[in-house]
Amino acid sequence: MPFSDFVGNPETIHRLREMLARNRFPHAVILSGAHGSGKYTLALMLARTLNCLEQPTTKGTDGDGLPDFCGRCSNCTRIAQAEDLDSRFAEAVDARENLRDTDKKETRLFVQTHPDVLIIPPDPPQLMIKVDQVRHVIETIYYRPGEARERVYIFTSSAFMKEAANSLLKVLEEPPEFASIFLLTENPGELLPTIRSRSMTFNLGAVAVTEIESRLAQLRPDWNARQRALVARLSEGAIGRASSFDLESYVAARSHALIMLKSALGGSDNNNAHTELFKVTESYRSGAEGRAKIDNLLRTFYSLLEDLMFLQSGAAQLVRNTDILGELKKMSEAADFAWVQRAAEGLGEVERGLRRNLLRSLSLDAFATALERVS
Ligand SMILES: [Zn+2]
Repeated sequence: MPFSDFVGNPETIHRLREMLARNRFPHAVILSGAHGSGKYTLALMLARTLNCLEQPTTKGTDGDGLPDFCGRCSNCTRIAQAEDLDSRFAEAVDARENLRDTDKKETRLFVQTHPDVLIIPPDPPQLMIKVDQVRHVIETIYYRPGEARERVYIFTSSAFMKEAANSLLKVLEEPPEFASIFLLTENPGELLPTIRSRSMTFNLGAVAVTEIESRLAQLRPDWNARQRALVARLSEGAIGRASSFDLESYVAARSHALIMLKSALGGSDNNNAHTELFKVTESYRSGAEGRAKIDNLLRTFYSLLEDLMFLQSGAAQLVRNTDILGELKKMSEAADFAWVQRAAEGLGEVERGLRRNLLRSLSLDAFATALERVS
């Protein structure tokens, strides 16, 4: 049954489904959790369960008799078309771009693949939920659903403009019987306390590494066991991040970070390492995707430094870059704890330099030089 496809947080899912079974599903639900924890996936699953025409329940030996969704009926299939939120969002942005200027200004962004299910993403360029988006919710929410049993509204971000938040509050004060509102957030504190007090909050916590690893075996058969182990550790318990992880760019960025680290730890007499290092920093000099590339490099660098700290403090089980454990062990013997800390501080300076828009490779070069000086 489809709910069994959801990864992790079984108690939370059970509670939500129990409320569905008792017809006590709250009008406003806050789903909170880290990026990639499955908030949107879960909201769409609940939207389908609320409206599935077959209304199956989980039966059989391991079944719990709780409501589920069939995934085949016309409500289920249309709601499922919204699953790829990034693509639907991009289409909506494109559609608006193609409008005449006067219409463009008045058009707010929505994703809608079923007439009674509306998805409200943050509106670019500010990427905030705007008051006109909430107004549209108010205009439609008091009409009975046409093809569904329950109107469903999914706000995919909690970044509300002030006026938009106040308008939403008015809806939550008097929600109609036949509507459910989902508010997805990485940080519930971003929502007005008065919105939170009128909603029920469910938190999606981190999923165990071993569970992510075993799910990846089904979701990403293109990765081998070593790669799955690495990705499961790098995605910090978020299945969405794990299944869409860009392993290729991670490994590319990591090889650069390793060259810089080795060059610094190898000492200044190592000419080969120097040439290699120069090639690396040079490759970050320009290019449109340069910023994303360097962000990737810095993130990767941090994860390596953290692993070195884990090794030095005798916590090898916490190392995330497990596929290069041997290499990391050698490095952790060459560097002491203070060196790793200074390297992390230096990395922080590179980041601050980038925010001040210093030339990218300039601050990278400075960082590489600084690393060598401290060793
Ligand atoms: Zn169905």
